[in-house]
Amino acid sequence: MKSRFTALKGVADVLPPETGLWRKILNTAGLVMSAYGYEEIIPPVIEQTELFLRSIGDSSDIVSKEMYTFTDKGGRSVSLRPEGTASIVRAYVEHNLPARPAPQKFFYSGPMFRYERPQKGRQRQFYQLGAECFGIADPAVDAEMITMVMAILGRLGLKGLSLELNSIGCKQCRPAFRERLREFFTPRLSELCPDCQRRYEQNPLRILDCKVERCGEIRKDAPLISETLCQDCRDHFASLVGFLEALGTPHVFNPHMVRGLDYYTRTVFEVKGDAGLGAQNAVAAGGRYDLLVSEFGGPETPAIGFAAGMERLAGLLRQEAAAPGPALFIASLGAEAATEALKLATRLRDGGTRVELGWGGFSLKSQLRRADKINAGSVVIIGEDELKSGKFKWKNLKDGSSGEAGREEILKQFSRAE
Ligand SMILES: [Zn+2]
Ligand SMILES: [Zn+2]
Repeated sequence: MKSRFTALKGVADVLPPETGLWRKILNTAGLVMSAYGYEEIIPPVIEQTELFLRSIGDSSDIVSKEMYTFTDKGGRSVSLRPEGTASIVRAYVEHNLPARPAPQKFFYSGPMFRYERPQKGRQRQFYQLGAECFGIADPAVDAEMITMVMAILGRLGLKGLSLELNSIGCKQCRPAFRERLREFFTPRLSELCPDCQRRYEQNPLRILDCKVERCGEIRKDAPLISETLCQDCRDHFASLVGFLEALGTPHVFNPHMVRGLDYYTRTVFEVKGDAGLGAQNAVAAGGRYDLLVSEFGGPETPAIGFAAGMERLAGLLRQEAAAPGPALFIASLGAEAATEALKLATRLRDGGTRVELGWGGFSLKSQLRRADKINAGSVVIIGEDELKSGKFKWKNLKDGSSGEAGREEILKQFSRAE
């Protein structure tokens, strides 16, 4: 049967059992963020285009190339949100939330839209969850947010993640860095890609983020922002690192990290997974944006946020969450042992225990390999010696304990054992 309609390119359905993973991620993140004092906010997915031009920056790739922008029937330029923060800052200012006691903490989740070439790990409609904290400049808040992000990922059971940190300065010290960067790139300007030549004029920090290989080569010896940070920014960053150390949160200083959005100041961070995740391997990313609220007409308000991609999180969970296996795997050698194994399995299955058998005359080694692969809880081995002695060897594959037992003891031991 050929479907008359298909989803748009780069826009995917999320089907069960994938939706179960998404639900688990949202529930887990919601629980952790509630414990950290965050409350849900649900902004619209469509905004005035100007909002994103002002916040994300019109020199960014997102705004210059990737936005879903339309003229609506009233002749207004509107855009589907490419990220969550701008809308939340807009709502924060519009509803006079700065008047409420600081900090104000919000979390959100929902679809975002970027018109990119669809590829592994990137869709035109993608789903993010994130949080924003307004009103506190203290680096303790940065540490708290990073710890919360790591707690969400940890509670989901994700492993092998690394946290990278940098400070990208403030309005006092960044202009000097921008000038140093321009000086560095001036003699190499003609070698940069066309995008970077534009970035050189508009925002040379962006060159540090360019994915074009040649640009990566040219910038290898570019000055680092850590060399230009003002004393306040240095102190802020050192204090954040101190808090993370006190909390035992492993982290790596990455002096090359800049973020793709204009509004970040000081702390930026990324949590990276393994390289198998496709175009970008950041699982979660965020940073401080102390100037955006005032840019939107609110009072000067320090703020920090993070966002994480659902598709990537679900992909990692799928890799990590081995499907629950049988409680018991019975390996047997020889026809007589196979009969004994089948009898034993049948009695256990009658009692509701999930049992798998190592069929087909395979070697003990290959049977045990299969037991491991299907994530069996325990194995029992029945060979000639075991048949003779009436004692079967068993091993718990989860905790490593092992022993020998007669048939009745085995039945008792594994009756509806989970
Ligand atoms: Zn500074
Ligand atoms: Zn470039």
